[in-house]
Amino acid sequence: MLVEVERGLGRPVAVFDLDSTLFDVSPRTQNILREFLALPQIRKDFAAEVEFLRNLVILPQDWGLRQGVERSGLKSTEIFYRALREYWRKNFFSSDFMHFDRPYDGAIEYVQALAAKNIEIFYLTGRDEENMKAGTLRVLAHWGFPLLSAHTHLMMKPIKGSVDDAEFKEIELRKLVQKHLAATATSTEAPSIWFFENEPIIIRRIVDAGLPIKVVWIDTTHSGRAAPPTGLPIIQIDGWQF
Ligand SMILES: [Mg+2]
Repeated sequence: MLVEVERGLGRPVAVFDLDSTLFDVSPRTQNILREFLALPQIRKDFAAEVEFLRNLVILPQDWGLRQGVERSGLKSTEIFYRALREYWRKNFFSSDFMHFDRPYDGAIEYVQALAAKNIEIFYLTGRDEENMKAGTLRVLAHWGFPLLSAHTHLMMKPIKGSVDDAEFKEIELRKLVQKHLAATATSTEAPSIWFFENEPIIIRRIVDAGLPIKVVWIDTTHSGRAAPPTGLPIIQIDGWQF
């Protein structure tokens, strides 16, 4: 796949989603759960639930928190579930726990190899700047993802909830296509823009938009709000391969 990304005129572009595409975010959820269960008020009010969930392992295939909690078989009250959900949501969509995320095997090397071949790198994420930019920059730098060059870019939503993830990504990819087409206006070849994404509902939106973008489905975990795409190149959870 690396070889194919190199083809085409102009500077090829590779666009990467972050959560569940380059990063396994299950350790983020695991540590948020751990801290929640250690809160003095929670330990006091929900001792049985704390004991029940103490050894729950959030798996890389889990999407968010719900699947793990359901797997545990816990039966509790709406008050408990709401407290857990709110704590998870507040912390998952912040800069505070994302240092627990782990890049999938081969992901760092994959992006580094493309950058080394002068391919323009974009990170296109539904994370918002206000709450998540500081942590995102820290974690990308920590793991050695290419970031500090004129040919690497981080694209985030300015404000949380300002726009739906799929719509945000379509808008940004559309702009990217326009820019790329302008840069290669004299060419008859389609621009070489690759988009790596795990979420089927986002992929469907981009495919339906008919943009001249080659989409690669990262088959890790997803919301289940749309069926898995068919007929696209796939990278699977066991690692990014060359
Ligand atoms: Mg994602």
